[in-house]
Amino acid sequence: MADDCLFCKMAKGEIKPDLLYEDDHVLAFKDINPQAPVHFLVIPRQHISTLNDLDDSHAELIGRMYLAAKKIAKEQGIAEGGYRSLINCNAEAGQSVWHVHLHVLGGRTMAWPPG
Ligand code: 5GP
Ligand code: ZN
Repeated sequence: MADDCLFCKMAKGEIKPDLLYEDDHVLAFKDINPQAPVHFLVIPRQHISTLNDLDDSHAELIGRMYLAAKKIAKEQGIAEGGYRSLINCNAEAGQSVWHVHLHVLGGRTMAWPPG
């Protein structure tokens, strides 16, 4: 837990996001500024600042994030049509919250390459 980390506060229940899923390892909630009709974030409860900070001990946790994303995508009705899942790492990618989070966006056609 990082004291002033927004997503750690959500993981601890100190701030209540619009929750879609939670278990002992990860939670998922709607993005406050959605960039698609469906846009949610999946985060580990454990504080990890960026993808660059991952090590082998996080292998299962990252898998759990994707398994949660897959489950929620189906519940949200975007599984068949398709969706984008991505993790921004550091400034040039546009990371603005320093606690690893998996974006899942769907409900519209996505452009490629991303901006
Ligand atoms: P990043 O830019 O770091 O990849 O993504 C951070 C995401 O967190 C953004 O899409 C932003 O809208 C979302 N976000 C920032 N603050 C909050 C908040 O307080 N609640 C929720 N639900 N999402 C947030
Ligand atoms: Zn954190």
